[in-house]
Amino acid sequence: MIKVAKFGGSSVADATQFTKVKKIVEAEKSRKFVVVSACGKTSKEDHKVTDLLYLCHAHVKYGVDYEPILKMIEDKYYAIKNELQLGINLDDEFAQIRKLMKKDGDIDYIVSRGEYLTARMMADYLNATFVDAKDIIHFSYDGAVDMEKVRKSLAFVANSDRKIVIPGFYGSLPNGKIKVMSRGGSDITGAIIANVIDADIYENWTDVPGIMVADPRLVNDPLSIKRITYAELREMSYMGANVLHDEAIFPVKEKKIPLNILNTNDPKHPGTMILDSCDEYDLKEKPPVLSGITGRKGFSVISLAKSHISSEVGVLKKALDIVANYGLSIESVPTGIDSFSLVVSTQAAKGRIYELMAELKEKLNPDSINIIDDLSLVAFVGRRLKNYKGFSGKLFGELGNNDINIRLISQTADEISIVVGIENKDFEKTINCIYDSFIRETSYESVKQK
Ligand code: ASP
Repeated sequence: MIKVAKFGGSSVADATQFTKVKKIVEAEKSRKFVVVSACGKTSKEDHKVTDLLYLCHAHVKYGVDYEPILKMIEDKYYAIKNELQLGINLDDEFAQIRKLMKKDGDIDYIVSRGEYLTARMMADYLNATFVDAKDIIHFSYDGAVDMEKVRKSLAFVANSDRKIVIPGFYGSLPNGKIKVMSRGGSDITGAIIANVIDADIYENWTDVPGIMVADPRLVNDPLSIKRITYAELREMSYMGANVLHDEAIFPVKEKKIPLNILNTNDPKHPGTMILDSCDEYDLKEKPPVLSGITGRKGFSVISLAKSHISSEVGVLKKALDIVANYGLSIESVPTGIDSFSLVVSTQAAKGRIYELMAELKEKLNPDSINIIDDLSLVAFVGRRLKNYKGFSGKLFGELGNNDINIRLISQTADEISIVVGIENKDFEKTINCIYDSFIRETSYESVKQK
């Protein structure tokens, strides 16, 4: 059994968190590959090291003194070094960073130093081998990860008996230059390594007990999801749930490697297990029909009506092409007999929406065209929705009972989620009333892990 264990920023924020990581890693021999983020916040007022590094770079760029910010970073690492009595020579590391900053150094190099230093220190603390991500995570010039090259590089280091610590978030281009991923990218690093070494499990250690059924900022004390499929998680994260980087699913999905979201501060909690298929467990456990409820505010709906629109060939294509020319992505296209609607993000369309409508009007010649702003989309996600009769009736009934007007409904044929469009003002109410009646009141014990 081999596991890849990735620890997020809050799991490595200070010396106390480092000791928790050590306990977890040493508890199982199988936790051979350890991937770390840069130190995160220790409190609400504190700052993530990566944010500070970006800030330093901006200061360098505009010729403003960055020393006070760099000093904050330095202090954080020295505090960990001193408390844990680590041997790492931080003076040399920071001298090198300062040298580069003076020369208006490369941004990717500068911001990658958070992960680099955290991994160096963690390797020291765990008495493990440090492997620099620049030597194993290889990008092509188009930004894609060159998995074959990663495989070859990892083969060199994977055979050792020692545990291996790797910084997340960055890799290198064919010319050796460092390239960072998008924010939160350490999740992807862990997933790539899990794929390449054919890990049995990819553990993603955070500061929450897995993925919650609904956003804890909106719903009081939500349950965590025990099991979920990759496909359900994709729906949830696209619609707003963000425990894990979106892109981290693909490398593990390809090899059907289970992904376990766990809490460094409560390692006994089983967290959320993300699998290719939950069928085997669902037969025994009968989880709730809804796995998760998630959503986003801030959409606009452009509705076009025209008699016989459904029998006219190519109208929808023309409309989609026009929207595409504005570089706007369409979230949903509910269609009727003589009308259809285009749902777009209000923010993305800002400043261009009336121009877009004028063009739609001119080219499609509709009988009417209008726009509704302030729309929210809420997704009810669940693998058990498929072939489950009567659920949407109950769901819509509940929204009606709560005086919530549904502006649009969309459900794809795979039946993995039902998405409703409601007014922004009803957003919290929608999520809460469905959570209360379909999750909180449910008798299914399997979700009640707490
Ligand atoms: N440190 C980086 C960030 O803050 C990457 C990561 O944490 O995964 O986005």
